[in-house]
Amino acid sequence: MWELIAEPLIVNSVFPDKDSMKRRVRELMSIVGLAERLENSYPHELDGGRRQRIGIARSLALSPEFIVLDEPVSALDVCIQAQILNLLNSLQKEFHYTYVFISHNLSVVRHVSDRIAVMYLGKIVELAGYKEIFANPLHPYTQALLSAIPVAKLDVQKDRIILEGDVPSPIEPPDCCRFAGRCRYCKDSCKQTTPELEEVKSGHFVACGVCG
Ligand code: SF4
Repeated sequence: MWELIAEPLIVNSVFPDKDSMKRRVRELMSIVGLAERLENSYPHELDGGRRQRIGIARSLALSPEFIVLDEPVSALDVCIQAQILNLLNSLQKEFHYTYVFISHNLSVVRHVSDRIAVMYLGKIVELAGYKEIFANPLHPYTQALLSAIPVAKLDVQKDRIILEGDVPSPIEPPDCCRFAGRCRYCKDSCKQTTPELEEVKSGHFVACGVCG
């Protein structure tokens, strides 16, 4: 395992000798909660949570300020997800990292985010603080996404917005609102222009010529 964590240090020639590099690797392992006895383990000998911690240790190796986390908990069971999210949270508090956290899991997104950007077919369609976006979603795609979050209460019925139509090809996206073919509010004007992201109230941006 230690070679995996050391790789960014080796590629960037951070340390002149192996001993100081190993010290840094052990420090990184301690920061992400990996026991020193595991340093010679192979990834296939470790569970998903520990493998994810290796990835996090690698990302911290060069002391970044900004980290892109692309689906960091998607392949993990719920219990391990919570551990990894708590780890990321405590690392952020200690080292003041800025994260871009990419996820399809809206419950996780709500838990970790300060600001949320909703993307459809490669474009941001809505951007706002996490409380605002969950309380007052404006874009029809955001509304549909939020309506799909399961509610863990038997007596609560939720009106789910079912999207119809097909997702256009991302290789050749339509030359208008990319959501037009699936939007229940679509008007003729939506098929003629591409709506730009506009601030509709302080800190809340939406790319929709109708709902904004
Ligand atoms: S611009 Fe039109 S088609 Fe696009 S999201 Fe808004 S209402 Fe729907």
